[in-house]
Amino acid sequence: MKCLLCHQAITDNPSLFELFINLKPMSESVCEFCFSKFEPIGKKSCRYCGKTTDKNVCEDCQCWKKHFHMFVKHTALYQYNQAMHDYFRSYKRKGDYQLAEVFATQIRYTKYFKKYDLITYIPSTAEHLRTRKFNPVQVLFSQLPLQSVLEVIHDTGPQAQKNRLQRLQTPQKFAVTKNLNNYQKILIVNDIYTTGRTLNLARSAILKQNKNCQIETFSLAR
Ligand SMILES: [Zn+2]
Ligand SMILES: [Zn+2]
Repeated sequence: MKCLLCHQAITDNPSLFELFINLKPMSESVCEFCFSKFEPIGKKSCRYCGKTTDKNVCEDCQCWKKHFHMFVKHTALYQYNQAMHDYFRSYKRKGDYQLAEVFATQIRYTKYFKKYDLITYIPSTAEHLRTRKFNPVQVLFSQLPLQSVLEVIHDTGPQAQKNRLQRLQTPQKFAVTKNLNNYQKILIVNDIYTTGRTLNLARSAILKQNKNCQIETFSLAR
């Protein structure tokens, strides 16, 4: 089998035993060298969102507190480093659907996801769906029992061209498409957490319909 990232033959595939005891994060479809370039979120990270920082609370989360009087409850697996940037460029921009496999093993064996009544994901805009032909978040987390709960009601444009406060102030762009009153613990997943605005908009759209549920968020990269 060949590594999905460097295309060299993989000689050291993890055994079923190694996967089962899960001593370290593994990928069945990427060689050990390529996989080692992804940096897990370390100890020096924001207590609310996992961003790598020397401070206890990162600038984004301080901004959330100052302007919106709220704290996020977010978990991420990896830092958004150069390897992760390159990965998402191939997966999302070039639309290489198969690259979802890189993290599939890890997502499948992570116990974290079991504590939620409902797991949903950030939907794609109609335009992205037309050009990519798939929703990268839905495919990335396809190992999970995802439910479609949100739709994009209007596209607010690319986040990368805005500064921090502009991004945080983006108006609501999601609506809930399903009755969620029977769910208590809800998890919303996304591929990358940038400032938290997208996930927090999704969170408020759900809270508007079900005030009493607990919502947490998750992303592959932060
Ligand atoms: Zn490789
Ligand atoms: Zn933070």
